[in-house]
Amino acid sequence: MSIRKKIVFPVFDYIGSPLIGTLAVFFLIMETRHPLRKRRVMRRHRAQRNVGLATTAFVALRLLQIPAFVFVARWSATHKTGLLQRFSMPVWLHYFLAFLLQDYGSYTWHRLNHRLPFLWRFHNVHHIDLDLDVTTALRFHAGEILPGIFYRGAFVALSGATPLQVLVYEIVFEAATQFHHSNWKLPYPLERWLSYLIVTPRMHGIHHSIVRRETDSNYSVVFSFWDRLHRTVRLNVPQDEIDIGVPAYRDFEEQTVRNLLTLPFRPQQPWQLPDGTVPDRTTLGQKGNLTP
Ligand SMILES: [Zn+2]
Repeated sequence: MSIRKKIVFPVFDYIGSPLIGTLAVFFLIMETRHPLRKRRVMRRHRAQRNVGLATTAFVALRLLQIPAFVFVARWSATHKTGLLQRFSMPVWLHYFLAFLLQDYGSYTWHRLNHRLPFLWRFHNVHHIDLDLDVTTALRFHAGEILPGIFYRGAFVALSGATPLQVLVYEIVFEAATQFHHSNWKLPYPLERWLSYLIVTPRMHGIHHSIVRRETDSNYSVVFSFWDRLHRTVRLNVPQDEIDIGVPAYRDFEEQTVRNLLTLPFRPQQPWQLPDGTVPDRTTLGQKGNLTP
């Protein structure tokens, strides 16, 4: 196999990346025209830092994660390690199940990032953003992506997803991440209907709340039903009452790119506001329903 074939993935580089870029611009326009939550910080100030952090994450994603997943998919096809390789089935069903298994891997990986203190140190960098919008979708510490390559890579090997199915899932994963982080106020009836199938901006906004039990919910990435299946779904939180972020990290001036990169290696703060109080909420919408 030529070097070019090894390092260039046409589906991801020539189709996926332009598509993801176009969608990002579209979500950026929509969240500007129809904002969902009030901002605490001007977007361009946060965007500079989020894009700064994104450069390291992008290197880890494109130069390590994508080649690793494709390598694992090829290896799995040769050694028949995957579940889906054991059964004959129509191509469309193979695609659907491969997508489903990879998305379940993303759900469990995200949940582990909240559960295990070592992983939370890196995922926290994403969560302390003081607003939630398209630029937050870029704000990941490279240290979160690296262990994810092993965990999610294992799902690729065990599922038996093909290289093409891996690349298609990664494109949808990135597009979905931008969509549900966006601050786009979709028409409520449409979003309520959509949230039964996929993760939406209101649903993911609850995951970025400073109230602990709200952060500890809504872990899904593409399909939202994983949270319903595992009873980790939370929908009845009014969006205009959500404070985005992590309670101990409320000072924007401290969130420089340098500090964000070194945050995982410094002592972690307890889940409380600088004055020592623990954020909670008494007003809730109707249980089981997505609240406007
Ligand atoms: Zn999270």
